[in-house]
Amino acid sequence: MPSHNLAHITIDDLEIYGYSVGGEETVIAMPQLDVCFDIGKAPDQVIPISHVLLTHGHIDHAAGIAYYLSHRAFCGQSPGTVLTPPSTIEPIRQILEGWGRLDGSRIPAKLVPVSPGDEFSIKPNLVARVFPTKHTPDAVGFCLIEKRKKLKDRYRGLTGPELVDLKKQGVIIDTPIQIPLVSYLGDTHYVDYSRLDDVANSRILIAECTFFSDEHVGRADAGRHMHIDEFAPLLERMNNKHIIITHLSRRTSVGQAKKMLRKALSEATFKKITFLMDRCNLQ
Ligand SMILES: [Zn+2]
Ligand SMILES: [Zn+2]
Repeated sequence: MPSHNLAHITIDDLEIYGYSVGGEETVIAMPQLDVCFDIGKAPDQVIPISHVLLTHGHIDHAAGIAYYLSHRAFCGQSPGTVLTPPSTIEPIRQILEGWGRLDGSRIPAKLVPVSPGDEFSIKPNLVARVFPTKHTPDAVGFCLIEKRKKLKDRYRGLTGPELVDLKKQGVIIDTPIQIPLVSYLGDTHYVDYSRLDDVANSRILIAECTFFSDEHVGRADAGRHMHIDEFAPLLERMNNKHIIITHLSRRTSVGQAKKMLRKALSEATFKKITFLMDRCNLQ
């Protein structure tokens, strides 16, 4: 029996597993891309994934980091790579050191400090690009970008051997292209993300919306989270094909949030939305 019963969504052949309730736990895994956004309490299902992209150090997003890293070693897997904001590196090191002492063996880890604008290679043709969010002072979001080469128009229609010949002559027959696949905002206050090209044009956007009722505007500001009043107009300006909503608080059920968004959004935008925790029957 796995430790968690995770939500499961498939979009265009991409699988997304996760659990997300504001203040409780957030972990979102994309196994085919070998990436886990935040780590929550380290569900068993995410241990084999080699990259954790941590948006900030709050306990609902980062509590399981030592277990994740230690359990990979226990299972004979390579040390996990954790991309994480600079201010979290030292505290995570101390946590790993403490658990290492309690457990009687050092916990192997590759901790990589990341800041907005940085790019990290996840696997051939796939990079994680870092963008700023507004939550803790150095909180970040991540955009996974596929980098490919596309044959230049003028060489279309040539046969394979003809293209090989051109290449041999040193002719550059293709141009590099970048396809933003998925952007993950983590926890964030309102920011006009439609101004960040990678985020606005990602095929999939994974976004938090924590607060929905009118009385909670102040709470959203104080906790630096998104409120539906700002979230809904923002979604209308984004070009994403699919939008996955995470981090609802326990105060709002998926059913209530859906109703409110259906009212606040155009039909076309509402159709793009999936709630990660839909049909999860939270107790
Ligand atoms: Zn959170
Ligand atoms: Zn947080």
